[in-house]
Amino acid sequence: MAEVADLVVVGGGAAGLACAVTAGRLGLTVVVLERTDRCGCKLCVTGGGKGNFTHAEPPRAMAERFDCDVRLIVPLLRKFPYQRIEQFFSSLGVYARTDAEGCVWPKGTDAAGIRDALVKETLARGGLVRTGCRVARIEPGWQVRMVDGSTVAARNVCLATGGASYSRTGSTGDGLALCRDLGLETVDWFPALASLRTKDDLSSLAGVTQPKVEMSLLTAGDEPRIATGHFIFAHTHVSGSSVLNLCGHAARALAERKPVVLRVDWMPGRSASELAEEFTAARAGHPKQQLGTFLGSYVARRLAAWLCAKAGVPADRVLAHLSRTEQESIIGQLRSTDFAITGTEPIERARVTGGGVSLDEVDFATMQARRIPGLYFAGEVLDVWAETGGYNLHFAWATGIRAAESVAAARSGGASPPTVVAVSLT
Ligand SMILES: Cc1cc2nc3c(=O)[nH]c(=O)nc-3n(C[C@H](O)[C@H](O)[C@H](O)COP(=O)(O)OP(=O)(O)OC[C@H]3O[C@@H](n4cnc5c(N)ncnc54)[C@H](O)[C@@H]3O)c2cc1C
Repeated sequence: MAEVADLVVVGGGAAGLACAVTAGRLGLTVVVLERTDRCGCKLCVTGGGKGNFTHAEPPRAMAERFDCDVRLIVPLLRKFPYQRIEQFFSSLGVYARTDAEGCVWPKGTDAAGIRDALVKETLARGGLVRTGCRVARIEPGWQVRMVDGSTVAARNVCLATGGASYSRTGSTGDGLALCRDLGLETVDWFPALASLRTKDDLSSLAGVTQPKVEMSLLTAGDEPRIATGHFIFAHTHVSGSSVLNLCGHAARALAERKPVVLRVDWMPGRSASELAEEFTAARAGHPKQQLGTFLGSYVARRLAAWLCAKAGVPADRVLAHLSRTEQESIIGQLRSTDFAITGTEPIERARVTGGGVSLDEVDFATMQARRIPGLYFAGEVLDVWAETGGYNLHFAWATGIRAAESVAAARSGGASPPTVVAVSLT
């Protein structure tokens, strides 16, 4: 190892390790500095430990899953379609399987297997991995200073310190302070994938899941954000993958002190008149059936009782005695229940955090800081987040690999970064 490393990677998570592997393969000397005693701790908990590491979707469609300007992210995703990420991992001996939803998982191994393969290849390519090293300061030139005062010299630095949640994995949000020290613009962290807190007391519904609902997130002055998927009630929160996907937008609106409402259609695709016809048929066929029991054929029984209460109609009202107004009120609730959103889960519990290095500071073609040559960024430390489904890890790999390729290109005086793994899309 040369005394001055070609590249010091700050943070040995998903993005930092992908960066280190690529740098090593391109002949760069690389040192990874990781604050915990093991790299990739957050990577190991992804996808319930199974590691949903990308998503089988074309770049343009994938771009829509990211909370940033599509014009910024599409070129990156075109360079890094999911096939290229799969190929990167198969070159490490980690093969892919795709489920019915398009989520891509490692075959025959898990998230820890992905981590192990990345660390093994980093070391095999001559990289150094130093754990238990918390970086306190990055000094242009470059000297990377640890909290104990020791330093590592580098020709280039890639900042890959992740976001600010699940702090036991090491992602404590250090990236913001490191960047502010360097005079870079940053955006404060906020929970991007987390459950939403409601004004209503939902304890009677805790544990209830509705498999397929349509949700609209309504915030003053913004277009409604629509999501479809399952819906889970907890004591004070609502959750489910689609709710998580709306969280970042809700968090931003709440920070701007806008009222936020989550409107749920429990019967997506069914019009009020279709439902009215079904009520009429049920009244004729089963006049003595109680309303709560009948609604139980549409939604979970506890939810049915709760919707009756919300509509102001007793759940034990027999269908024959249901007035037109009561029926309309119930159908209204089935098609549109409003939850006032008062907050999110704490940031510590967020699967992904928004905020980080302002995207104006970054050249997405190279992942280099626009104003500070030799400084690169990768992964969640950037002010980008994406929906659930493998997109956040995809971003970590793509940006980590790109940063290393750019360092290699700059070193060889090349105009455009080389690609380590080429993929044919035809
Ligand atoms: C429970 C959970 C499940 C998830 N499931 C999925 C999933 O299935 N699919 C998906 O795509 N995404 C998933 N994610 C999101 C995904 O894990 C992250 O987006 C991804 O890990 C980000 O990679 P990163 O390398 O940028 O950051 P991280 O993986 O957080 O790595 C950052 C690293 O930097 C280190 N570090 C921080 N500060 C310092 C410092 N000062 N000095 C030295 N080192 C430092 C940290 O210790 C950490 O190891 C999940 C997240 C969670 C919490």
